[in-house]
Amino acid sequence: MALTCGEQKLKKGSAKLGINLIAPRVAMLTAVKPQHAKYGRAQCHYCGSCGNGCTVGAMFNSLSSTLPAAKATGRMTLRPNSVVRHIVTDNNTGKAKGVAVVDRVTFQEMEFTGKVVIVAGSTLESTRLLLNSKSRQHPDGLGNSSGVLGHYLVDHFGGTGASGVFPTFAGRDVINEDGKSSGIFVPRFRNLDAATKHQKFLRGYGFEGGSSIGAFPGMAKSTPGFGSEFKKQVRRWYVTPVSLTTRAAMLSRFENYVEIDPGGVVDAWGIPVLRVHIQHSDNEREMGRDATDMAESILREAGAEQIKVSRNLTLPGRIIHELGTARMGNDPKKSVLNKYNQLHDVSNVFVTDGAAFVGSANQNPTLTILALTIRACEYLTDEMKRGNI
Ligand code: SF4
Repeated sequence: MALTCGEQKLKKGSAKLGINLIAPRVAMLTAVKPQHAKYGRAQCHYCGSCGNGCTVGAMFNSLSSTLPAAKATGRMTLRPNSVVRHIVTDNNTGKAKGVAVVDRVTFQEMEFTGKVVIVAGSTLESTRLLLNSKSRQHPDGLGNSSGVLGHYLVDHFGGTGASGVFPTFAGRDVINEDGKSSGIFVPRFRNLDAATKHQKFLRGYGFEGGSSIGAFPGMAKSTPGFGSEFKKQVRRWYVTPVSLTTRAAMLSRFENYVEIDPGGVVDAWGIPVLRVHIQHSDNEREMGRDATDMAESILREAGAEQIKVSRNLTLPGRIIHELGTARMGNDPKKSVLNKYNQLHDVSNVFVTDGAAFVGSANQNPTLTILALTIRACEYLTDEMKRGNI
């Protein structure tokens, strides 16, 4: 989706520092092809309501895209009220037999059997389910012979960045710029090679942000004044905003982990909950400092004024990009899943969400989750055809 006028200015400012700024790649339809029309998906009409869901299916998500495709096979049963209690395993073989569930509304307990169990409950819920699936063969949780299950939890951090105004836009006519949900993206530019190496931290970060006239003048809260002069000032400046915020990698560390709550806390259905242990390290703090400085520099180069910076890292969990805790790897002693998202310990259980990640990098994770899931599904169908599962 094209950059706004202010975003073009940002692009020029960032280019002066040798930094690339692009339109973000978003999973929204700007054109409808037969594979989309088949499931009733329409082209984006720039209404700006993506955060509330998309009623026309222009935005990719499971409701508009993957579930309708699964339904069209005629082989899907959707059970939205089944809360999975644990994975049921065969006491002799140790393999999964199915899942034990409790109905969210009626509290009825049920079991479903299957040749394969695919866990995709989102990072922490998937790992919680595995940890809650203890049995004689799997005393520390399903797939946890390595002791790694639950460890190496990461989340992206944001919060660091800068915002300001473009004075050249002050008092301009209002146009519809907030219908596009995607602003700008600055791909990572630190620690790519020797020339971009930073002395104080590993990995890197990117920027999200933008410059567009919003429906609501958020800056009014900090605009001084009262009455008609105040309104005049708000109208004059609310058409000028520009901001950059960080999406940054967090280092994977064994000591950031989740466990089944040792105090015996359970949820509404009596299922043990997780306790989360996670902290930022100096690497994240140094990276955040650099990100704030660079965001401010880009805004200045772009011609922004009244610049305010933010140096507070978001707390882990705030970006809701939890990843890791059932990491993949070649060595069963150091990882939970193999490269096909299959448990090393139990060949008929797959985990196809962010739990499989070994690190966060700085990119938003969903497209990687989808790619890994497709690879896992292709492997699974091949293995089933060969009779290996
Ligand atoms: S702006 Fe967002 S909610 Fe509106 S049609 Fe486009 S994708 Fe859907």
